[in-house]
Amino acid sequence: MPTSFSTDLPLRGRILIVDDMMENVLVLNNILKEQHEVLFALKGDKAIELAQTRAPDLILLDAVMPEMDGYTVCTKLKHDPLTADIPIIFITALTDVQDETRALDIGAVDFISKPVNPSIVQARVRTHLTLKRQTDLLRRLTLSDGLTGIGNRRCFDEQYQREWRRCQRNQRSLSLMLIDVDHFKLYNDHYGHQAGDEALQRFGDLLSQTIQRSSDLAARYGGEEFAVLLSETDTEHAMVVAAKIHQALAEIAIPHHTSPTAPMITASIGLASLVPDGGLAPDSLLERADQALYRAKHSGRNRTEIG
Ligand SMILES: [Mg+2]
Repeated sequence: MPTSFSTDLPLRGRILIVDDMMENVLVLNNILKEQHEVLFALKGDKAIELAQTRAPDLILLDAVMPEMDGYTVCTKLKHDPLTADIPIIFITALTDVQDETRALDIGAVDFISKPVNPSIVQARVRTHLTLKRQTDLLRRLTLSDGLTGIGNRRCFDEQYQREWRRCQRNQRSLSLMLIDVDHFKLYNDHYGHQAGDEALQRFGDLLSQTIQRSSDLAARYGGEEFAVLLSETDTEHAMVVAAKIHQALAEIAIPHHTSPTAPMITASIGLASLVPDGGLAPDSLLERADQALYRAKHSGRNRTEIG
């Protein structure tokens, strides 16, 4: 196990506090702020938006709120794949066994009663953060591509939804590259599948070295196709990243003597950028990148086309 999972080390998490009373938020913030990053929301709809866009590790949720109550918020979060895995602790003045049972039934992991006791809040938060870390570790394994070690298709799909919403909320540009290794079938036919796998691994390494911001993602999209997602990035800056990929490939120069394009492995890139808005289907960016990739492949390969 990595040392960061040791119980001796302070466990820092991102905690979302949801309570309609600012004074309650402040009490919890004072208890948690030394050790953790704290976000807060005074309303249910804001809480859901923050849960979707900021991916907190844990939510402390007030049961009784006007407009949307804690039970409704919890139910909505548990039905959204983006937020379903975030543990929720109910904070409630209610001491009715039925209310507590109801909270657990709809997916809460625990509850704490008001007025809150600082030691109990800290201890419960620590316990559930530890469990969350372990679950996240397992999830990371299910989200990584077995061959290249970068994100797999499922990882890409989840990140894509998250970044789409984040860029929509912030009205920033989201850029996507779909990348195809040129003449990969010819490579496999000539050099063998073992060498083909190694080439894909080297390409995966190259991508993860080129993509350095934590909000960006390089993933294996399937076969010899890869995807790079650049959050809050416009076409101009994405073009710089695409050029770096072509350049890095030229530098590592993996020989490919049966390629009609070049004596080494090259890649074709379809790039698209847009500012997501409510009227656009999330697939529209994927479609544009895919069309651009098609053009890159049909106009000589080893190039980037913009969709
Ligand atoms: Mg309340």
